[in-house]
Amino acid sequence: MKLVFTDLDGTLLDHDSYSFEAARPALNLLAARGIPVILASSKTEAEMRPIAEAIGISYPMIVENGAGIVGPASEQHATDVHSESPYKRLRGFLREIPKELSACFEGFGDWDVGRVAKETGLSAASAELARQRRFSEPGLFSGTEEQKQAFVDLLASEGFTAVQGGRFFTLMPKTSKAERMSEVVDHFRRASGEPVRTVALGDAPNDLAMLEVADCGIIIANPAHRPLPVTERERQGAILRSEQSGPEGWNIMIHQLVATGFL
Ligand SMILES: [Mg+2]
Repeated sequence: MKLVFTDLDGTLLDHDSYSFEAARPALNLLAARGIPVILASSKTEAEMRPIAEAIGISYPMIVENGAGIVGPASEQHATDVHSESPYKRLRGFLREIPKELSACFEGFGDWDVGRVAKETGLSAASAELARQRRFSEPGLFSGTEEQKQAFVDLLASEGFTAVQGGRFFTLMPKTSKAERMSEVVDHFRRASGEPVRTVALGDAPNDLAMLEVADCGIIIANPAHRPLPVTERERQGAILRSEQSGPEGWNIMIHQLVATGFL
């Protein structure tokens, strides 16, 4: 069977309007061929669910930048249901570490909706959804490099890591979009009993590992950022680039893969 994994912002969603309508023909084409589309974003489940519903797709989804999976592929973690969520454990970690280190970090859990809206540039309604976290904690680190290293070392001893993004320093489990993609692929392989062929689409450095592990990776042009580096996989022809940005590029590239028989 075939699976399509996709980032949202700047990839399936237009960088400015957040619309996916330009990709509607390709989404319909995939639906008609029975090819699942799996959303993989830094957004929370609460933010992604309305988008998935508008597109007309269901679970699984890779959420919070790979910190978690929600939906069928996470069933294998069902035994964890009664244990604390990674988010609760991260907030507990922040309460337990020495005060001089915890004072250096402020996360969404320390901020009210108004502050999250201000720091993210989101509307108040969207900020409310972004605060509904289960797996990771974005925030700001204000300490010295030494304090940051001590903080990261303590995080690591609890099985967590921290990723510096464009805006936020995000605390999360030691996983990535690419690892979560492999878990989803395993789930569909077991469920279908067939080999799985994967396509992944993304526009930013945090998508690159996912594009690299896909059978075909597609870099969606994003004029707002510097282009992603050319990797060995791209030189081998396993990674393609769109000329058009956002959902227009998404639409053209998926049609192209269907036309060549890859999808
Ligand atoms: Mg993106």
